[in-house]
Amino acid sequence: MAFVRPRFSQSTLGMALAALCLAVSAFPAASADDHGADMRALRVQEKLRTNIYKAYFPDLATARKAAITFHANLLESQYDNGFLVLELTPQEIATLRSFGFRIESAPEFIQMRDDLLNQIQQAADARQRMGAASTDVTVQSIPSYACYETVEETFAAAQAFATANPTLATWLDVGDSWQKTQGLGGYDMRVLKITNSAIGGTKPRLFITSAIHAREYTTAPLSLEFARWLINGYGTNPDATWIVDHHEVHLLLQTNPDGRKKAEGGLLWRKNTNTNYCGATSNSRGADLNRNFAFQWNSTGGQGSSGNQCDETYRGPSAASEPEVQAVQNYVRSIFPDRRGPNVGDGAPADTMGMHIDIHSYSQLVLWPWGTTSTPTANGTALQTLGRRLAYFNGYTPEQSIGLYPTDGTSDGPSYGELGVAAYTIELGSSFFESCTTYNNTTKPKNLPALIYAAKVVRAPYQIPSGADVTSVTLSNDASGAGVTPGTPVTITASATDTRFNQSNGTEPTQAVTGAEAYIDTPPWSGGAPIALSPSDGSFNSTTEGITGTLSTAGLPLGKHLVFVRAKVASGQWGPVTAQFLKITNVVPPGNNETEPNDSRGAANAVSTPGSWNGAMSASTDNDYFVVNLPAGKTLAATLTPNSSSDYDLYVYDAAGTQLGKSEKGTGAVDSVSVTNGTGASAQRFVRVKYYSGGTGATNGKYTLGLNW
Ligand SMILES: [Zn+2]
Repeated sequence: MAFVRPRFSQSTLGMALAALCLAVSAFPAASADDHGADMRALRVQEKLRTNIYKAYFPDLATARKAAITFHANLLESQYDNGFLVLELTPQEIATLRSFGFRIESAPEFIQMRDDLLNQIQQAADARQRMGAASTDVTVQSIPSYACYETVEETFAAAQAFATANPTLATWLDVGDSWQKTQGLGGYDMRVLKITNSAIGGTKPRLFITSAIHAREYTTAPLSLEFARWLINGYGTNPDATWIVDHHEVHLLLQTNPDGRKKAEGGLLWRKNTNTNYCGATSNSRGADLNRNFAFQWNSTGGQGSSGNQCDETYRGPSAASEPEVQAVQNYVRSIFPDRRGPNVGDGAPADTMGMHIDIHSYSQLVLWPWGTTSTPTANGTALQTLGRRLAYFNGYTPEQSIGLYPTDGTSDGPSYGELGVAAYTIELGSSFFESCTTYNNTTKPKNLPALIYAAKVVRAPYQIPSGADVTSVTLSNDASGAGVTPGTPVTITASATDTRFNQSNGTEPTQAVTGAEAYIDTPPWSGGAPIALSPSDGSFNSTTEGITGTLSTAGLPLGKHLVFVRAKVASGQWGPVTAQFLKITNVVPPGNNETEPNDSRGAANAVSTPGSWNGAMSASTDNDYFVVNLPAGKTLAATLTPNSSSDYDLYVYDAAGTQLGKSEKGTGAVDSVSVTNGTGASAQRFVRVKYYSGGTGATNGKYTLGLNW
């Protein structure tokens, strides 16, 4: 909810102020303009905006379309309670009424907004008293929204990735914000490019823009979280590893940094900060960057953007007039070739590589072009298929981005409109200033998998999403963990399914899984050799299949390998690969295995260092003995963990066979015995694992014996 946010308690406020003081002393001001005074005036202006209403919708479908069309007006969605909260002109009220909406005033939301602005102003005043003259939001965290990185924190994190991982990440300067072009502070427009530069070749590219609308707090942090997943996951997460090796991810994390700085000060700022529009000191100034793109700019007769400089959807005086938009357009044109014809009805070829996602909040939508007309694009079916895949992960509504009426000059213009690259807008969450609790528990975990899926299919986003998904790839013998010695056969098991679509808006057809294969190290697109996998139930005939097969590890070099698994459906289309690590080692895996025969003290396994031993027993005549040369004064702790269906007992003896301790618990229970050597000299201590019941073979009768001293 946009305006419902935790009030500061006195102690919380005190702590927040203390943290702010530290932040101010640690970081210099970001710009030289009189930011503090500007922000104070803007907050006063924002409190004068009281044309805020509850709009009760006639039905949910109309509400979602209104949320697209009135994205710029929307302040809060309460779908469960039947209304949206919107800032509306009298004309807009009339439009909504014509679609069946009932309009009421919303004083409680105005009050909550004012409370927040007052709190932030108080915090700014307190900072100023502490000596931070003329600064305001140059502090490094947003009060009460500490989970959202500020522009400075975002840039510092991206720079740190590139510095620490120069082979994997590059922090590029691709242009200037409007303020920077004017010498009014401002920022560089910067892209974090993530790929393993040690691996060459033509790599498909996923380009993500976030925070083009300043107040959409969650968007840039989600992009940064995706960067974190890729870079921190390299070498530890198999999918992150192959994506970084074989694909490129380009993140324009802060697409509207000047405006973002306003929003970090508590303002519901959407546009850039261009003082040429709507008056230099107005808090309605600036151009809506997401209506300023050149492709189909101002193409819908005034419906899809505004010519009024003070409106939240002001399109700017000319196509791509704003430097932020120029930077995005130039970058998109530099990383993607043109695969689409010049006419609106032309489609890009099915094998077109690359993808652009513009991340917004809020409304819980996955959208694709066109936004200017209800006619689908020539790639509409494929865009819909991938949209329903993405929406499977976040649970949002997938639909073409045409609302109650069109939008024009939007960010998918250069990517899809000009070049034919698959383009999506994802509307995260349910408020602009989303609580950190909601972001961390819901928005982030639901949307990170959608971005990962996008990164997996970017080689052919119009084709691969109609193939099956592979999940839960596991290798036997702990081959992905401790590893196996060369030549050890490894069993692979996984699941393949064609059911992972969001089916809430229309029905995406699903197909039977008809084949699966694995590749070691060299993926299918690089000419790797396929290893055919089998259906676990004997036949490939349903939309979800267990799959299994055997990997030969003979001849594989020592080290960590990647196993790629993919599955196809009845149409013959292969889905994206899912990977798992295969470790080849010349070290016998940790945990020592008992050596038979060891049925007597005289044949005991000698244990020289503390550790764990794995054993198996299946007959009442069986005993396993271990011997430790226990130093004087030391205590030997023996812990016997049986598998759940077995019952073994544990005894400790001295060299003469005198019992020093025992534990005889039941099936599945852990036995433990501790004995201290009080003899004054080192002494042999014999540990006996005795079969009691339950184990019927090597598989069923297993235990782990831990020995520590
Ligand atoms: Zn937006």
